[in-house]
Amino acid sequence: MSIDGIYDQNNIFKKIIRGEAPAIKVYEDDKHLAFMDIFPESRGHTLVIPKVDSRNYLDLPADVIGEYMFVVQKVARAVCNALSPDGVRIMQYNGEEATQTVFHVHFHIVPCYRGIPLTAHAKGAASRAELEEIAARIRQHIS
Ligand code: 5GP
Repeated sequence: MSIDGIYDQNNIFKKIIRGEAPAIKVYEDDKHLAFMDIFPESRGHTLVIPKVDSRNYLDLPADVIGEYMFVVQKVARAVCNALSPDGVRIMQYNGEEATQTVFHVHFHIVPCYRGIPLTAHAKGAASRAELEEIAARIRQHIS
């Protein structure tokens, strides 16, 4: 998939927005959703999406970016306050060549812990119970 293209109404994140696929949510409002990545690169890997149909950051309508970035920061702060990592990566990929695999725009919040390397992108699945436990902690820190 190139950077340009038609928005697929059946991509997995759109299904999560519509309630047709499950997600372990940590934050939701009428325009945004944040949920646990099921193939986390570290403990607490969280995804933040706007609900507007956009394949990537380049597609996003300019008037949604400000509030979306505010929500990304809000969720990143909650992740850090809940899990006390030593650092956090806030990342976003556009196009297959840039390793984007789900074509609904999203930011990754990936906590980094000293001495613990990140695991591979979009590979090993975490246990649902563990993700639920982490999500409950993060939810408590959403302001
Ligand atoms: P991308 O590669 O597009 O930047 O990131 C997509 C992310 O979505 C990956 O980190 C991958 O682990 C995650 N992911 C893929 N399928 C699902 C899913 O069904 N549910 C959730 N919660 N995350 C997913």
